Amino acid sequence: MSYLNVEEYRVRVHRDDGEVDGAVWVREGQEWELEAANLHLVADASAVPETRPDVFFARLKETLEADGVRLLTCGTCAFFRRSDAPDDDGWKGYCTWSSDELPISPPEHVTLLAPNCHRFAYRQGPPEPVDSTWLAQARSAEEDQEETAVLPQLDKPRGLIGIVRRLLGRTPATRPAVPTAIIERPGGQPCPCCGTRMTNRASISNVDETGSERIFSVWRCPHCLGNFLDDWLEAFVGSRARDAERIYVVPPAEANMGVKMVARCPRPDEKGCTCVANRHFDTWGDFLYQHGRRMKHRESVVSL
Ligand SMILES: [Zn+2]
Ligand SMILES: [Zn+2]
Repeated sequence: MSYLNVEEYRVRVHRDDGEVDGAVWVREGQEWELEAANLHLVADASAVPETRPDVFFARLKETLEADGVRLLTCGTCAFFRRSDAPDDDGWKGYCTWSSDELPISPPEHVTLLAPNCHRFAYRQGPPEPVDSTWLAQARSAEEDQEETAVLPQLDKPRGLIGIVRRLLGRTPATRPAVPTAIIERPGGQPCPCCGTRMTNRASISNVDETGSERIFSVWRCPHCLGNFLDDWLEAFVGSRARDAERIYVVPPAEANMGVKMVARCPRPDEKGCTCVANRHFDTWGDFLYQHGRRMKHRESVVSL
């Protein structure tokens, strides 16, 4: 983690009355400060300025727990494992979440403070260290993964081109194996957790029930290493602009699955396709929305 003068992270905390969104500020050479609803807490100042992020994190967690508040971040998640890289100082770790549909995949770093995702499961005590057996297994899983994805049948070209092609007995040109919609593009929209410009990993254009465009994008933050799904709805642009963009924190395994799914769509950049990939994103976006996982609209980006 590289400290700027002041860093702001979006977090979520749990109290007796439920979960609330808040923010944590990190100031160089000082302690944490957290604000969530009417809660305003500052970790005890130490005589010697603390520079290790993992010590900062542990102190923040302890301070909050003494007040009956649980910090809902990767570092308190049952699926989080502390990194084995000495340079990471325990700030970074791995998300070990997997399921039958999304089996263990190459491990990916996440940071302690990225807010909890919908797979979050609270655990007490310090984060578990990474298990070398798990790490080796996860890394080797990359080579085993076969690209079994089959592109769905393209609709027959309609109109004049279709007629001419059928008359000439020509088949449509085969599409490139990697659609342009999964080329990684850095420098995109600001991270909803820390404000750093994120990398767009893939996008796909869907259609909602009104016929308007619904664009899903998978993002990753190069600074806080958070993974996000952005669900943008054309129907809400204008009168309900606030509802036009829904952003969710997702575990790396789901983000990777999303990118793979986009590769299965023959035309991810054109609305109208209803292949397995488009259906996957509709289901994913609807699930996250119905479970109230939408992140708060970000008013400002703070990295002073
Ligand atoms: Zn970030
Ligand atoms: Zn498609």
